[in-house]
Amino acid sequence: MQIRTRFAPSPTGFIHLGNLRSALYPWAFARHNKGDFILRIEDTDLERSTQEAVDVIIEGMSWLGLDLDEGPIYQMQRIDRYREVIKQMLDSGLAYPCFMSEDELNRLRDQQMANKEKPRYNGLWRPEPGKTLPPIPQGVNPVIRFKNPIGGSVIWNDAVKGQIEISNDELDDLVIARPDGTPTYNFCVVVDDLDMKITHVIRGDDHVNNTPRQINIMQALRGTPPIYAHLPTVLNDASEKMSKRNGAMSVRDYQKAGYLPEAILNYLARLGWSHGDAEVFTKEQFVDWFDLESLGRSPAQHNPEKLLWLNHQYIQNADPVQLALATKPFAHELGIDTERGPDFVQVVALLKDRANTLIEIAEGAKLFYLPAPNLSAEQIKENIPEAIVPALKDLVDAVSVAESSKATYAAIFKDLLAKHQIKMPALAMPVRYALFATTRTPAIDSVLVVLGKEEVISRLSKAIL
Ligand code: GLU
Repeated sequence: MQIRTRFAPSPTGFIHLGNLRSALYPWAFARHNKGDFILRIEDTDLERSTQEAVDVIIEGMSWLGLDLDEGPIYQMQRIDRYREVIKQMLDSGLAYPCFMSEDELNRLRDQQMANKEKPRYNGLWRPEPGKTLPPIPQGVNPVIRFKNPIGGSVIWNDAVKGQIEISNDELDDLVIARPDGTPTYNFCVVVDDLDMKITHVIRGDDHVNNTPRQINIMQALRGTPPIYAHLPTVLNDASEKMSKRNGAMSVRDYQKAGYLPEAILNYLARLGWSHGDAEVFTKEQFVDWFDLESLGRSPAQHNPEKLLWLNHQYIQNADPVQLALATKPFAHELGIDTERGPDFVQVVALLKDRANTLIEIAEGAKLFYLPAPNLSAEQIKENIPEAIVPALKDLVDAVSVAESSKATYAAIFKDLLAKHQIKMPALAMPVRYALFATTRTPAIDSVLVVLGKEEVISRLSKAIL
């Protein structure tokens, strides 16, 4: 059997990180099984769907590397197909027109509530052998209802939640087309999942209630229902449902904040799935390990600190050339001209061990691209003590003839400390100040290498003249 999964987002409103987890798992399941992964945009809610949300979804998925085999397929472009199936269902008696007006429905509901019954459609227009239907009212466009089975129950073995059984008596005859003929949500999902030959539906558990209805329609259409895996919700760090209102960020926000897609993918993977105690793993490992059995059964909780920690892990272990490429836009944003000054790859390599985000690397890189400081006599007096000047002069001489490497510079510093009987900070702080007009820099030997011999000599010389 060819495994086929789909991500079927409704492009309504804000797309947060938790939403994209519903793309990651079906993608991983398809990849693990050499199956197909399809993106279906459920955009039939015209009032709430936006192109902006579609863009966020598509960009986010491509940033995370969730590649598609088919799609994006837009439901709005399949309306004719849905109408065709509705017609077939009417013709074959699987569905029927219902002329009950809104008012009548409301009255029915009020009555049922007053009798402490569950509000549901009473089947007034449902054709049955030997039953006489009411006379068709003039000028009323009917809705189309699905003839839900009576008696028995719908049972499915949810890959996350285990066996679920819903009695058919709980389900009334679902409206599958509105009075203007437009198909309704649950119906479109069924037609699509069947037409697209979806074998596994992996989606949020807010859809559990829709599942028995969808299964009934599928079976009526003689289709085989897919395997369902309903994922528990993602809660925010305050244990509330994630939403924009309580501070959830979109994938785009994370991209802008200097997160690496590999870190986000790793983080999302663990948000409701686990493989032993593995916390940091590659995309390939994730695909290799992914199965439905290891999906979590309780709500996952978003943990921003963990995400930041993961991002740090990925930055620290990244190839400096790749990392420099990813950091460049952030550096440019800060006004750094990476073409003028030290080699940007070297700067990034120097800063990556301490950075949590690409923005932090870019911030750190600034130091190396600012013009040489123009120290005033006052500043020099305050930060470069007279007593240290002989050591600084020796440093300039030594650097002039040395090979530019971390090891060489470390050795030079060691010699100078011994010769002048001083401690490292007494020498390193004035050096830092002379080079950058600040004493906060990464390790001094590395800084010297990255800044470059010429620049080091010129800046030091200016400060000790
Ligand atoms: N469009 C639905 C949503 O965004 C998902 C439907 C499905 O996966 O079946 O919640």
